[in-house]
Amino acid sequence: MSAPLLKVENLVKHFPIKGGLLGRTVDRVHAVDGVSFELEAGETLGVVGESGCGKSTTGRCILRLIEPTSGRVTFEGKDVTALAPNALRAMARDMQIIFQDPYASLNPRMTVAAIIGEALTIHKLTQTTREYTDRIVDLLEQVGLSADHLQRYPHEFSGGQRQRIGIARALAVAPKLIVCDEAVSALDVSIQAQVINLLEDLQAKHHLTYVFIAHDLSVVEHISDRVAVMYLGRIVEIASAKDLYTRPQHPYTEALLSAVPIPDPRAKRERQQKRILLQGDVPSPIHPPSGCHFHTRCPIAKPQCKAESPVLKTVGEPGDRHQVACHFRG
Ligand code: SF4
Repeated sequence: MSAPLLKVENLVKHFPIKGGLLGRTVDRVHAVDGVSFELEAGETLGVVGESGCGKSTTGRCILRLIEPTSGRVTFEGKDVTALAPNALRAMARDMQIIFQDPYASLNPRMTVAAIIGEALTIHKLTQTTREYTDRIVDLLEQVGLSADHLQRYPHEFSGGQRQRIGIARALAVAPKLIVCDEAVSALDVSIQAQVINLLEDLQAKHHLTYVFIAHDLSVVEHISDRVAVMYLGRIVEIASAKDLYTRPQHPYTEALLSAVPIPDPRAKRERQQKRILLQGDVPSPIHPPSGCHFHTRCPIAKPQCKAESPVLKTVGEPGDRHQVACHFRG
């Protein structure tokens, strides 16, 4: 196996909570609590979990849009977490992000041409005005828009079209890795499918690598080579998409999967279809439960789960790269 494009090692992000007259740190939100994974060039890792599980914070820490508390992120062998600001700006060309709400992330006072062209100017990627315009038109066409849209403003577009503009902007610098942070979550299901198809086409064309973050397992199924399931700041299971959807090991993955409709019951999935309803809400990440964070909701929890935190262990054959964090599974 070749060296990974991206390596995340024991990533931690705790947000301090300030309080009192002196504004001291009175508590911490344990947003990301020791996340590790590797990603090959050209691969897509789906990252899934309920709101507040730390998936978006993980994505932003990888790009250092948020400074991690500890841990290491290595991209093409370089330690991203140790880069000085200048080197980090240069590396930003290789690692881009697409946000959930394209309207909020696109400047309403800028035309589409200016939004996409901004990155070309910052990174001095074109030499002449003609080259600059041609490149923007080319990017628009790659995402299914056209030169007719150059001088229009974000509010003139639908949600799906705005997300296409966001994708064109990310593509402008010819990145190697794109973090898609809930990039399709705000779109209608039919539009979601179109944008996912577009992302797949662009991946094949440009050999892109994606970290594809979503709160719903059904959204990531078709685009992901592997899927990581997060719960309260930790990865509880990571496997190839095929393994995860057909042979889930972690009780939390089973519960999430039981909520995903199976379009054709005779199809590849062997998993049970009975809906597993978890009790209660996700506990606060300020004071996560001891031991296995999932023990307060787990249908098969035992006393050991409250006392001991399970580590990710490999299940199946070592080559399967299927890992689960549960004392009683695997
Ligand atoms: Fe459930 Fe215990 Fe496994 Fe955690 S370690 S998932 S609480 S059985």
